[in-house]
Amino acid sequence: MKIDVSAPILARNERFAAENRALFAEADVFVLDMLASPGAGKTSTILATIDALRDRYRIAVIEGDIASSVDAERIKAHGVPAVQINTGGACHLESDMIRRAVDTLDLAELDLLIIENVGNLVCPTDFDLGEHAKVMILSVPEGHDKPCKYPNIFARAEAVILNKYDTLSVFDFDEAEFREVVRRLNATAPVFPLSATLGSGVDAWAAWLAERIEGERAGSADASHTDTGTEAANGS
Ligand code: MG
Ligand code: ZN
Repeated sequence: MKIDVSAPILARNERFAAENRALFAEADVFVLDMLASPGAGKTSTILATIDALRDRYRIAVIEGDIASSVDAERIKAHGVPAVQINTGGACHLESDMIRRAVDTLDLAELDLLIIENVGNLVCPTDFDLGEHAKVMILSVPEGHDKPCKYPNIFARAEAVILNKYDTLSVFDFDEAEFREVVRRLNATAPVFPLSATLGSGVDAWAAWLAERIEGERAGSADASHTDTGTEAANGS
């Protein structure tokens, strides 16, 4: 007999994720969950993304770390609201933690909420936070073999950012091999090579994200338009 200890935890997570999703839809806030290893440059990538999109969207960040508030302080110093979640040892964020963080934010004043998950390539993949998209960041120094070793996160991500791309010549990173394995795991996710600290390549990523946000908005506008249509049809 096999007991799946993760089943009740995931079922509970799904309940809060559904509630989060309803809150985000009601406030028309697009929510992005960013996943990566420690040191891949999640916070720097989020700062670069903020710089690229802050004229267009009102942005806030939820920072997930096992301990410390260093990353949230970096975001706040950039003039953007940030909430730090300390998981106290847990290696991923769960949807109820997001809910508590969201309760401290004014969703009506936001267009885009970026979640920086705990640095980990394994379990954050399995936890739905109620987000619209999960995006994965790999940095060049981590090596091109990571998609082979951690296939689930690459299969799950809607887009893959290849950060620290400016160090490509220093590391033995086979970009063609990397892209081929990512494509095999995930037929649709685009790969965005960029350097978050230099700012190079950020525009293409930010343009993709803006298009994804606008697509979501158009979809929800269509849905409410359809609802209105139904009401009108019922009324006549
Ligand atoms: Mg960070
Ligand atoms: Zn975990």
